[in-house]
Amino acid sequence: MNLILLGPPGAGKGTQSEVLCKKLGIPQLSTGDMLRAAVKAGTPVGLKAKEIMAAGGLVPDEVVVGIIADRISEPDCAKGFILDGFPRTLPQAAALDKLLKSKKKKLDCVIELKVDDKILADRIENRARETLAAGGTVRADDNAEALKTRLMAYYRETAPLTGYYFAHELLRTVDGMAPITDVTRQIDEILAAVEAS
Ligand code: ADP
Repeated sequence: MNLILLGPPGAGKGTQSEVLCKKLGIPQLSTGDMLRAAVKAGTPVGLKAKEIMAAGGLVPDEVVVGIIADRISEPDCAKGFILDGFPRTLPQAAALDKLLKSKKKKLDCVIELKVDDKILADRIENRARETLAAGGTVRADDNAEALKTRLMAYYRETAPLTGYYFAHELLRTVDGMAPITDVTRQIDEILAAVEAS
């Protein structure tokens, strides 16, 4: 199963892809996690991405497309993968189509998690508070200012992807404001229908 989870920052893509990853036994490919690892390791990609990410902007398409192209070619992706945070722009979606075609693979489904903006802001504030309380380090972009930029980037660059995947007859939408287990159930139902088709 080759899946994409689509949705604004804080929509719960990471939470749901973790559940799916365990259930389906396929890897979660999160460009956000990969970029954060690159920043931490101080690689050339990390150096390029650091400031952009902290401000809430989007890292250049060619950088993330390169990361995903390498990752999808690894053996653990042979049975499928869950893309979380990629594609985020129409050129990234086109690059993914080309990449999958060259590997004779195709997308099975794109799941959009829909959540109100006010709830997103609250969730991100909570995430920062809980991380601090647990003695962890808050993400450089989990603050009100960067969140505004991330949301703007989402609406400008990423939201058009719902139209793109609707046109490709791949888009399914779930209510991301429901409790976590409920969202999981909605996704399970969608995947069962996709498998049966
Ligand atoms: P969020 O929780 O906001 O969905 P992620 O953890 O997916 O964030 O990504 C964090 C940051 O990493 C983004 O704000 C952006 O700077 C960068 N990033 C992640 N994926 C992409 C991508 N596909 N294209 C461009 N930038 C990306």
